[in-house]
Amino acid sequence: MSDQDTTDMPETGITPGGTTGTFRDVLAKGHARRGKPPLHFADMDADERIEAARELGLPRFRVKQLANHYYGHFDVEASEFTDFPASARQAAQERFFPPLITEVTRQVADGGMTVKTLWNLFDDAKIESVLMRYPNRTTLCISSQVGCGMGCPFCATGKLGLMRNMSAGEILEQVRVAARMMERGEVAGGPGRLSNVVFMGMGEPMGNYRAIMGAVRQISALPPEGFGISARNITVSTVGVVPGIRKLAQEGIPVRLAVSLHAPSNELRDELVPMNRRFNVEQVLDAAHDYYLASKRRVSIEYALMRGINDQEEHARLLARRLNHYGDDWAHVNPIPLNPIEGSRWTASKPEDERRFCEVLHEAGITATLRDTRGQDIDGACGQLAAKVRDQRGSIA
Ligand code: SF4
Repeated sequence: MSDQDTTDMPETGITPGGTTGTFRDVLAKGHARRGKPPLHFADMDADERIEAARELGLPRFRVKQLANHYYGHFDVEASEFTDFPASARQAAQERFFPPLITEVTRQVADGGMTVKTLWNLFDDAKIESVLMRYPNRTTLCISSQVGCGMGCPFCATGKLGLMRNMSAGEILEQVRVAARMMERGEVAGGPGRLSNVVFMGMGEPMGNYRAIMGAVRQISALPPEGFGISARNITVSTVGVVPGIRKLAQEGIPVRLAVSLHAPSNELRDELVPMNRRFNVEQVLDAAHDYYLASKRRVSIEYALMRGINDQEEHARLLARRLNHYGDDWAHVNPIPLNPIEGSRWTASKPEDERRFCEVLHEAGITATLRDTRGQDIDGACGQLAAKVRDQRGSIA
């Protein structure tokens, strides 16, 4: 468990499976008192949008125009919607596009190809997203919860505890802003297209299932129903919330699943990933393999390498055995050099151990790619930026 003070933490959680049994969400103080973000166009279904337009005295075809602006052009500035009656622009702005995320700071690295943004939400909570441009793709890593209740002790976000779930609108706004930055050439390399989205920022996506699925649908649908980023280019990560993995498999949307395993044995994983006490390594890998069978998408196994803890040959061998148990080529391992948080006893592996870890996997026929550590010089690990801001201000919200 995290070394966070849990003395006055409530005994309940909001992640599926986090309310009972051996695992409970780590909840931040006042998590239940935060209220809900304003309702946004992206939070409404078709009928709600038509009804909201009717209340403003607008016919239903105006909703389609708004959708074109939002999904097709990434625009929310109703004052600039020249196809919209001037007299209705301000009301439409307030009703459909309340500002949900406001930039606090932006850090740029890798020659301008990596942009990490800290956002302020309606309740002064902070989240972050990271845009990474590569020669053949541009990936945005987004947050789905404010903080995280999973309590992994090596993780900065885990130290915050779970403050609240984000709304679909808040999640989607991160994508819209990044897509617009790319389109307008605001990222080094000139105009381009946002091609990939990964749910690997703050939070456990399966703990906010309904909102992340609402976001996935709107990211992947073609305009004017969504941003038109192929579901195959969307990755949903989880620390191993088995019911969430099983539910995702039934959606029939071919997103990629990424499982943060971080340890091959239950003994070690119980310590590094407290959720393991609820759903152990066997249950998580069973569900991940079933997801592969249902989706025909190779599953990513995320593995943060921590010096002397989980990065030795014996760990790689056990991991390979576990994965090969299900057959060949169904999983791809992404060992990630840990970006350590200050004052933590978990630190990054030695480069020679990282290399050896990958070699052992390769020798066992497992594909493994050492994940690049984009943005490491700008606090690359999830939650570190927010944690830093919190420390400076005494409190994050
Ligand atoms: S590693 Fe992931 S699941 Fe664990 S506390 Fe951090 S954000 Fe949450």
